Amino acid sequence: MTRLKIAIQKSGRLAEKSLRLLESSGLSFARSKDKLFWFGRNLPVDLLLVRDDDIPRLLLEGVCQLGIVGENVAIEKVLESRARRPDARLEPLLPLEFGHCRLMLAIPEDETFQDVNQINGRRVATSYPHLTRDFLARHGVEADIVTLNGAVEIAPSLGTADAIVDLVSTGTTLRANHLKAVAEVLSSQAALYRCPESLDNEREALLAKLLTRIQGVQQAAETKYVMLHAPRDRLARISAILPGAESPTILNLEGQPDRVAVHAVCTEQVFWEHLEELKAAGASAVLVLPVEKMLA
Ligand code: ATP
Ligand code: ZN
Repeated sequence: MTRLKIAIQKSGRLAEKSLRLLESSGLSFARSKDKLFWFGRNLPVDLLLVRDDDIPRLLLEGVCQLGIVGENVAIEKVLESRARRPDARLEPLLPLEFGHCRLMLAIPEDETFQDVNQINGRRVATSYPHLTRDFLARHGVEADIVTLNGAVEIAPSLGTADAIVDLVSTGTTLRANHLKAVAEVLSSQAALYRCPESLDNEREALLAKLLTRIQGVQQAAETKYVMLHAPRDRLARISAILPGAESPTILNLEGQPDRVAVHAVCTEQVFWEHLEELKAAGASAVLVLPVEKMLA
């Protein structure tokens, strides 16, 4: 029986959301004790729980057919593997809207920043040597790249580097180490990637089915079902406020000829401002309900 394998992070920033996305897409797994391999129970799709850094290689080598990993790691590892396989590439299928972070060039906070050129001939500490080299090359800068696997942000105070390239979300770590972010190397989020080779028909079909389901989950997360009462003569105004709603359903209200119930699927985010506008336009009894699944 043909099966698909999906690699996700075992523990860390992406682990929980990756698993939740797959489970919301209808996959269920027999969770094994050692937690490395989970057998798919309802579909022939199994899970491999690994370090995020290993995911690109598992895809490039065809051990897994799908993987969820940060774009930062995927791109870095693909660039790294090009030393051995110049044509190595990974196909991103979908950005997943979680795991957002930015890879930034940072320098000591008491240095003034003019442009990336001032890094020329200096030492840059990073865990992302390939992305860093690419970024510097794009700016025509040559620097000495010091590859570190962790604690990159302390390198300048230890005197082992003049600048760093590291992931930044709030900037707290940088500030604590008297550094400031001055240029963006990459803006990243988690994404679903597939292996480069084509698969047999059965597996391609399974992969396509899974992709449709994941897109459905993503779409549903934004989508809301809105119900409200409105004066019949305000329908056009009210429909215009509902974000991303196509033709709403209009229902009569018993004993109230001038008012109707409106039901609409809103495919864009519904904010409090929308509800306030609806109320100002004459709507009452406004309810916003989550949508669990969608198949357009
Ligand atoms: P592993 O043990 O799997 O190697 P890790 O320590 O490399 O874990 P995490 O810290 O869990 O990795 O981060 C995983 C990914 O989460 C990062 O590669 C990045 O894509 C994303 N991420 C989101 N926000 C941040 C952040 N503030 N700092 C670091 N990574 C972040
Ligand atoms: Zn890692």
